[in-house]
Amino acid sequence: NTLPTLNLVKSLENSAPETPNSQPPNSQPMYALISVHGDPTAEIGKEGAGGQNVYVRELGLALAKRGCQVDMFTRREHPNQEEIVELAPGCRTIRLNAGPAEFISRNNLFEYLPEFVEAWLDFQQRTGRNYALIHTNYWLSAWVGLELKSRLGLPQVHTYHSIGAVKYRNVENPPQIAAIRNCVERAILEQADYVISTSPQEAEDLRQLISQHGRIKVIPCGINTEHFGSVSKEVARQQLGIAPDSQIILYVGRFDPRKGVETLVRACANLLPSAFQLYLVGGCREDGADFKEQQRIETLVNDLGLEAVTVFTGRISQALLPAYYAAGDICVVPSYYEPFGLVAIEAMAAGTPVIASNVGGLQHTVVHGETGFLVPPRDSKALAIAIHSLLQNPTLKQSYGNAAQNWVQSRFSTQGVATQVHELYQSLTLDTFVQEIIQTKKLTPDLERQIQNLLKSKV
Ligand code: UDP
Repeated sequence: NTLPTLNLVKSLENSAPETPNSQPPNSQPMYALISVHGDPTAEIGKEGAGGQNVYVRELGLALAKRGCQVDMFTRREHPNQEEIVELAPGCRTIRLNAGPAEFISRNNLFEYLPEFVEAWLDFQQRTGRNYALIHTNYWLSAWVGLELKSRLGLPQVHTYHSIGAVKYRNVENPPQIAAIRNCVERAILEQADYVISTSPQEAEDLRQLISQHGRIKVIPCGINTEHFGSVSKEVARQQLGIAPDSQIILYVGRFDPRKGVETLVRACANLLPSAFQLYLVGGCREDGADFKEQQRIETLVNDLGLEAVTVFTGRISQALLPAYYAAGDICVVPSYYEPFGLVAIEAMAAGTPVIASNVGGLQHTVVHGETGFLVPPRDSKALAIAIHSLLQNPTLKQSYGNAAQNWVQSRFSTQGVATQVHELYQSLTLDTFVQEIIQTKKLTPDLERQIQNLLKSKV
């Protein structure tokens, strides 16, 4: 596998310079969201399916509500999966054939990307779609987008979702693919028309660890705040069979060592013998790495004498999650690295305060001392103290929960976030359109400078 991989990286480094798009924006612009490994219609909460899938789906749906046509491209992972799924009028998932139609972990997907590019071009030709812009997600899709950009001259926006240089910063033996990922992550920052950082921390990491070049705009992730705030605590507890006076500590997410479930379990052991229940919400696939992590956590729970108070719920659908969030007294997000962390804002939207590690995007979504607490990562004692202080103080818990709900509604609703993303798209498609006029109409240098300045001030 080494040779094709190296060739691919070379072809990336030598890729042709940008050419302007020949499609003027129209009244119903068509946008292509590309998420090679994160199917927006997949079951969320299992290995490989998490925040990215939700981000792409929610953004696609919100843009469609604003009158855009959105196609969300992903890789087919099963022979029975339909090629096209319409999620709402104007919003579709398109599954392309690239490599075997089976689950492939993201670390092994790189070699199938050229096939993905060809399948995308084939789809575009077959259907005659004229996309005004591509928005890529995660470094694998970045590679695909850079190829498409170099061939078609489309404007490209990119969202990282995770940065290899941060993820592998303290990892002794990073996977082989890490070096290639790093190269692609630099290329995309320098060559995309805009990179969307979901938090100021991510923007800083990109500047410090990846490149000083390239344009970054900070736009957070958004969620459907009404959906997550739709159930009251009383109803939720009745629905889930949880006693009104139980103290519920909640974790929601994938089983991945970087999520820090171990720290949470150790913190809970420190809380004994107080009465509480620990709900660990998230699923795994038996053949996946997350299954091993869940088993490791189960063993730890048993070793620390927590089995009687711990509930492993398995994967919970997005439809049922609001009840779990509302039923929790507090939600803990104990990650060691978290580029954004949708779970924190979902819990707060349900009116549940959050105790999170003081890392990544969580530093900007959880307001310490107002919507919950931020604690150092990997510090089970500090986490135990924070949990204890909230559980013991129902008035504080209630006021943090109320503040959390208001905060998320004002900052992180999908509609508000999609408006910002849409404005960015519009300025770029306008940018491309005007660049073309500049080139074809031979404007005077002075007029050209004025137009360029006007465009720059728009974003
Ligand atoms: N999730 C879910 N069911 C589960 C566990 C998690 O639907 O059983 C969803 C959760 O609602 C959230 C996403 O998975 O939208 C996790 O996103 P986050 O950004 O917190 O973490 P990531 O998985 O992207 O690392």
